[in-house]
Amino acid sequence: MYAINRNGESAYDKPAYVSHYQFLCPNKEEVYDFLKNLYSSVADVKEVDGIHLDYIRFPDVILAKGLWEKYDLVMDKEYPQFDYCYCDKCVHDFKSLSGIDIKEVEDPSQVEEWKQFRYDLITKTVNRLADVVHGKNKVINAAVFPGPNSIAKKLVRQEWDKWNLDAFFPMNYNDFYMGDTKWIGELTKEEVTAVNGKKPVYSGLFICPKPKNKANEADPENHGLLPEELEAAIIESIQNGATGICLFTPNRMTDEHWEVLQKTINADF
Ligand SMILES: [Zn+2]
Repeated sequence: MYAINRNGESAYDKPAYVSHYQFLCPNKEEVYDFLKNLYSSVADVKEVDGIHLDYIRFPDVILAKGLWEKYDLVMDKEYPQFDYCYCDKCVHDFKSLSGIDIKEVEDPSQVEEWKQFRYDLITKTVNRLADVVHGKNKVINAAVFPGPNSIAKKLVRQEWDKWNLDAFFPMNYNDFYMGDTKWIGELTKEEVTAVNGKKPVYSGLFICPKPKNKANEADPENHGLLPEELEAAIIESIQNGATGICLFTPNRMTDEHWEVLQKTINADF
């Protein structure tokens, strides 16, 4: 059931990057059934308003540029050990659909249909799950990579503008992409435009937990918005069409961050 990379290695016992990257193949009916049963049972709980999807994607075939140094990688193209899924079923189904034996192709990253096939695997899974959750009169949304065209499709094969969700929470983590608060505005604009302004987009902001240490901090996981950047990040998000902002890691907020947030959300702009 686990995803297989282009070298034939399973994400179960040879996960990419970090030990928890044990991704499943989205093309297995058993995987869908597992998710359907889990989310159905959660959606059945009366007090639950909705389901939030995370990690609904392939492993990063390209890492965000801000993380290259941490993992000592130069990801100038798609490398086989990070490229999924080449299980027998994915290879076979793609051959039936396209006539292409992807295992015989020298550089699969050049085959547009193979990319689309994998975008579609995730999209189909999400949309089937959305039908199940909506059938129980609950909402369903997801944390997604920014974009989708500029980043999410290229890095993790999320063509999320085709997903029938009720809201999107793009992780507009500017420091991972060497971007500033203006970058957050540009990406928010792309995201709102991608869903034609018809679905709420909540701009996910990445907060620096120890602002005074940021300059000396080598690990980009500890970077993020400083308190003095937070107001601009919120304004960029809202002025470019976000319905609101989202903090995935509120525990990283310092007192100074909370002060700025309080002031900014009560202001008109
Ligand atoms: Zn597969």
